[in-house]
Amino acid sequence: MPELPEVETTLAGLRPSLLGAKIVRLVVRERRLRWHIQSGLESKVRGRTIIAMRRRGKYMLIHLDRGGLLMHLGMSGSFRVILANTSKNTGGNTAIETHDHYDLITDRGDIIRYRDPRRFGCLLWASGDPTQHKLIRTLGIEPLNLEFNGKYLHHAAKGRTLAVKNLLMNGKIVVGVGNIYAAESLFDSGIHPARGCHRISEQRYQRLAESVQKILNQAIQQGGSTIRDFAAADGQPGYFAQELMVYGRAGAQCHQCKTPIRNITLGQRSTFYCPKCQR
Ligand SMILES: [Zn+2]
Repeated sequence: MPELPEVETTLAGLRPSLLGAKIVRLVVRERRLRWHIQSGLESKVRGRTIIAMRRRGKYMLIHLDRGGLLMHLGMSGSFRVILANTSKNTGGNTAIETHDHYDLITDRGDIIRYRDPRRFGCLLWASGDPTQHKLIRTLGIEPLNLEFNGKYLHHAAKGRTLAVKNLLMNGKIVVGVGNIYAAESLFDSGIHPARGCHRISEQRYQRLAESVQKILNQAIQQGGSTIRDFAAADGQPGYFAQELMVYGRAGAQCHQCKTPIRNITLGQRSTFYCPKCQR
């Protein structure tokens, strides 16, 4: 499932083709995504210029010279960029496949093709500033911003009794720390995922905030190497395997202490941790 680093990487992969370009056509083949692609969206975006692109949580916000678009990759979404010179030769990699639900075609001749087998992604219209869309303005803070720190987390935990991992995955508190990155950050900061969030000092929360930022930044940097493939339209979504310390490693030895990694369920999500390194 695409997480914050993959969304960041996707945006970086799309930027060279989309930023500053004019949308000449939107072709929708399947409207039934997580939310229906509204009828008439094609005419709303036609002729609009893309003036800014940014990530907010796991949404990609496309600012147009009037209005904007919200895109989300859902569980299985990915984009393929078919550059103008590629589409001239009718090579097999430009063929439309079953799960290719929409295309954005720019005045540069590039085709941005969205694929999503499970259809949990979205393409929504924002009539004004996309950052003010109702789905966006209620989101928690960004984990890579300065305001995400020990003080913030410690304050957010006050009066709550839930497990720290569930606090970290609550999108109203902080956005985009998915299951993998929550597990890895808790390991990195030595905090047990099931520990009650009210039983953690501000100092330990500061360490946790720094771990979250370190691990997300590493993933984004590693993603950088896939951008080239992405732009070459090889159809690969540009996700990347990071070296994971605990996630998916149940029963395997902890890289630090050799204790077997454990797997429990927290908030209906599989949770991996080292019982010795994490308290
Ligand atoms: Zn360990």
